[in-house]
Amino acid sequence: MKFSKPDQSDYARSAAYLLIYLLVIGGSAFRLLPDQWYLWGLLVLAGLALLVSWHRGQMVYQCPKCGHVYKLSFWVDLVAPHGVDKDGAWLLLRCPACRQRSKTRVLKRVE
Ligand SMILES: [Zn+2]
Repeated sequence: MKFSKPDQSDYARSAAYLLIYLLVIGGSAFRLLPDQWYLWGLLVLAGLALLVSWHRGQMVYQCPKCGHVYKLSFWVDLVAPHGVDKDGAWLLLRCPACRQRSKTRVLKRVE
């Protein structure tokens, strides 16, 4: 598996997808709520699942303590605390190799 540091265009693409998602959710809320709230809820969940599975396919994570590189399960990717600082995006994760909990850098998979 090859990987590299994400660059500006990766962040821009993630932000664009997130924006599209929020626009779809916001726009459809006017049409579907409150009468068809279940349809809207389905749209919210389906969109979220799509976003997370896309993100999962793109990204791997490297433990800062031992250097182990790994992928995340759907739920961990969804619920782990996320953040961005001057060095890029990070998640608070427990490494499967050394079991240390730390701010883990996000890396991009390269084919
Ligand atoms: Zn580790």
